[in-house]
Amino acid sequence: MKHHQIVIIGGGNAGISVAAKLKNARKNLDIAIIEPSEKHYYQPAWTLVGGGDFNINDTVKPEKNFIPNGVSWIKDAVAAFEPENNQVKTKNGEVISYDYLIVAPGIQLNWHLIEGLTETLGKNGVTSNYSFDLAPYTFDVLKSLKSGDAALFSNPGTPVKCGGAPQKIMYLVADYLRKHGLGKSTSVEFCSAGGVIFGIKKYADELLKMVGFYGIKLNFKHDLIKVDGPNQIATFKLTDANGNVTMVEKKFNMLHVTPPQSAPDFIRMSPLAIPHSDGQLPTPCQDPSELPQSYLGWIDVNKETLQHSRYNNIFALGDATNTPNAKTGAAVRKQAPVLVENLLSLLDSKPMHAKYNGYGSCPLIVGYGKLILAEFDYNNNPTETFPFDQSKPRWSMYFLKKHILPWLYWNQILKGKM
Ligand code: FAD
Repeated sequence: MKHHQIVIIGGGNAGISVAAKLKNARKNLDIAIIEPSEKHYYQPAWTLVGGGDFNINDTVKPEKNFIPNGVSWIKDAVAAFEPENNQVKTKNGEVISYDYLIVAPGIQLNWHLIEGLTETLGKNGVTSNYSFDLAPYTFDVLKSLKSGDAALFSNPGTPVKCGGAPQKIMYLVADYLRKHGLGKSTSVEFCSAGGVIFGIKKYADELLKMVGFYGIKLNFKHDLIKVDGPNQIATFKLTDANGNVTMVEKKFNMLHVTPPQSAPDFIRMSPLAIPHSDGQLPTPCQDPSELPQSYLGWIDVNKETLQHSRYNNIFALGDATNTPNAKTGAAVRKQAPVLVENLLSLLDSKPMHAKYNGYGSCPLIVGYGKLILAEFDYNNNPTETFPFDQSKPRWSMYFLKKHILPWLYWNQILKGKM
């Protein structure tokens, strides 16, 4: 049986950032990362790929380039946990023991919960920027739209990574149509299971101005439950103010889907998940809006220290945890130093002082060259970085998103330097 002092599950944004920070702090730590993928993705650029303003090939690099020096890479996936014995089991049947465990496997995209979706993804105008393979198809579909066509954008009832992504692509599409003289003769609709455009009023007010500018139709309490690709019909479950439910069918030429999301199944079914998970695996076509929150199975951590609520030698960060922040890479950037400081304190048998305040950021692209940079904490208080009102659409913030943040990601964040 292999043993490492610190085992990290997941070599994505969170896992690599934390491994690099730990190694930067103490060279002699014995760390292993369990990560099955040979490729590392920069997912935040997929919105721009869908809008035809970023090369998909620049969003992927070999994982091996980012495993920090001196860290062991176990190319396998974790399948089960035995926290009482300080062990994990992998898909290949290996058992790996640890002194400390950091869990960062990201989020699970539950495409299968929408009836008919998997059969038609990447065809019939049905696309999603939530997938490396599909983001370029988004732009293909956009370019094919013509007068009289309809573009729909769905947003599910579950938490999703980058809560703004379901609508960012919509503004790019609306802007593209406007610039190509199709703004008036095509329709663009947002169909969201939620009840507001954005949770923080300061940014919501500006987004509603953009919605008005482009003439976008907003449909709240509309949950996508079925897609008929060949006939290009999307079915939404509509819940009115009195709780009455009706089914609404909409014809489309473009359908951008944001799938319902949850913790990965191997987390949901494990003792690390929040208690009272019902333990049921998703059934195909289960109505996503009826999934109880406990079913989503996030890793149960203290929202300030990021230490597991029941296992003191386990920490978690990134999209898979139950911390009530916006699930973004920006959040990971603030979580990683807190987790590292607290873990090192624990190693030294000292009290843990570092606290995560729920910071998250959402670079809300609202057109080509226009971006609202939302930044906020657990209390939805704006926590803006720049000395100007970030709720106003700006070219400088779009430049930051397109050119500066990707460079910082590959060269600083994944190296544990910020
Ligand atoms: P990931 O980076 O997804 O990494 C998880 C890793 O765990 C993966 O490498 C995976 O292979 C591995 N893994 C999975 N299962 C196992 C297993 N069983 N065993 C071992 N390893 C496993 N964030 C922003 O900050 N700004 C944005 O503008 C933004 N836009 C986005 C737009 C889109 C379209 C998308 C999809 C995401 C966007 N994000 C954005 C979100 C951001 O990409 C995520 O929040 C971030 O990647 C989370 O990091 P993570 O390490 O938790 O998960």
